[in-house]
Amino acid sequence: MKNIMGAWIQKKNIDKRRVGELITRRGSIQTPFFMPIATRGAVKHILPEEVRSLGAEIVLGNTYHLWLRPGSELIARAGDLHRFMDWSGPILTDSGGFQVFSLGARASERFGVNGVRLSEAGVEFVDPENGNRYFLSPEISIDIQLDLGSDIIMVLDECPPYPCTREYALASLQRTTRWAARAFEHFYKKIKEGGEKYVNDRPLLFCIVQGSIYEDLRVESVKQLSGIEFSALGGPDSGWDGYAIGGVAVGEPRETLPDILKWTVPYLPEDKPRYLMGLGRPEELVNAVNAGMDMFDCVIPTREGRHGRLFIMKSQNTNFKSQNPNKTKNTKAQNENNNEEEGSFYETINIQNERFKEDFTPVDPLCDCLLCTRYTRAYLRHLFSVGEPLAGRLASLHNLRFYMRLMEKLRD
Ligand SMILES: [Zn+2]
Repeated sequence: MKNIMGAWIQKKNIDKRRVGELITRRGSIQTPFFMPIATRGAVKHILPEEVRSLGAEIVLGNTYHLWLRPGSELIARAGDLHRFMDWSGPILTDSGGFQVFSLGARASERFGVNGVRLSEAGVEFVDPENGNRYFLSPEISIDIQLDLGSDIIMVLDECPPYPCTREYALASLQRTTRWAARAFEHFYKKIKEGGEKYVNDRPLLFCIVQGSIYEDLRVESVKQLSGIEFSALGGPDSGWDGYAIGGVAVGEPRETLPDILKWTVPYLPEDKPRYLMGLGRPEELVNAVNAGMDMFDCVIPTREGRHGRLFIMKSQNTNFKSQNPNKTKNTKAQNENNNEEEGSFYETINIQNERFKEDFTPVDPLCDCLLCTRYTRAYLRHLFSVGEPLAGRLASLHNLRFYMRLMEKLRD
C-alpha cells in the first residue's frame, strides 16, 4: 500500500530539539506545536478564526465526549467535525481511552456500578452523566474518529492508573500493543474500502507508548509497537505515522516526566513526529521540546485562564534551556500563597488579587493578544470580580497566545 511520503519533514536540530513540519491532508503544521483543546467541538469561549489568529494550526477534539454527545454519526451527517465546528485546519482526535478510564470512576460513585470493565475485546463503561452503558474497542475507536473526519487518529490504548505495579504495567502495555495492531489493521481496511482517492488522502495514524514509570517497560512498549508486522496487517511497511507518549498525566509525580522522556525518546524513530499527550506547564513543554518531542496538548492555558491565572513572559529574549521543574511551585501552593509562581522565563499572576485593582497597565506588555493590546489589568480584574463572562474569554485568549508564543520561540 502507498504511504503519504514525507508526512514529517525535519528542518533543523538544536541539540535534541527538533524543528520541522508535519504534513497532513488538511495542511502542514510547523513543529514543535501546541494544540488548543476543542473538547466538545469548541475551544472554550473562542471562535475558530480567533484560534487561528492566535497562531494555532491544529486543534484537538475529544473522541469520548463527541461520541457520547452529540454522537459521531450525527457529526458525520453534518459533513464532519471540521464543518460542524467550522474549523478548516487539521484536527487530531484522541482515542477516547483516557476519558473512559478516568471518568469511569465517577460513574461508579454516582450510579454505584462498576464504571469500567476491561476485557481483551475492549472496554465497557458507564456514562457518568446518565448511567448509559457503552462499549469501546480499538476498531470502534477508529470508526468514530473516521466519522469525525479526524486528520490525526490515535489508537485506543489502555491507560493504567498511577500508581500501578510493574506486573500490571507490563500486562497493560502488552494489551496496548495487541489493541494497536488491531486498530492498525482495521484502519487500513477502512481506508482501502474508501477507494483510491481516500487512500491517497488518508488521515495519519499514531500509536501510543505506555509502560507507566518503569524504564524497561517504556522501552519494551516502543519496541513492541514498532515491531508489529505492518504489511501483514494490510498497511504500509513504514508503519505508524507518529508515536505518542501516553500515561504521563495520570497523577504520577511531576519529577518522573524527564525520566520517562530520557528512557523513551532515544528509541523513537527519528523520522516520525512525537506527541507528548496531555502535558503540561510551560517549563514542562520547554523540557520536552529540548528532549526531542514535537507535539503537545493541555487544558492548562484555558482552564487556568477561566480561573483568572495568567501566564506572563518575563523577557522577549530567552534561550529556553531546560528548566528545573522543582524550582516552580505547583498551582496549589500558588493559590494558598496567593502569590506569583516563578519559572525562569515566565511568571503567573492571579488577576483577582486586590493589588491589581488600580493597575492600569497591560497584563503582559510583551504580548500582542486582544487582552494585552486593548485592556488593563484593572479592567480584567473588575470583569472577574463581577462575574462577567468576557473575563474568562479574554484570559483564555491571552493564555493560549502565551503558549503559542512559547512554541514560536522554541521553533525560532
Ligand atoms: Zn496577552
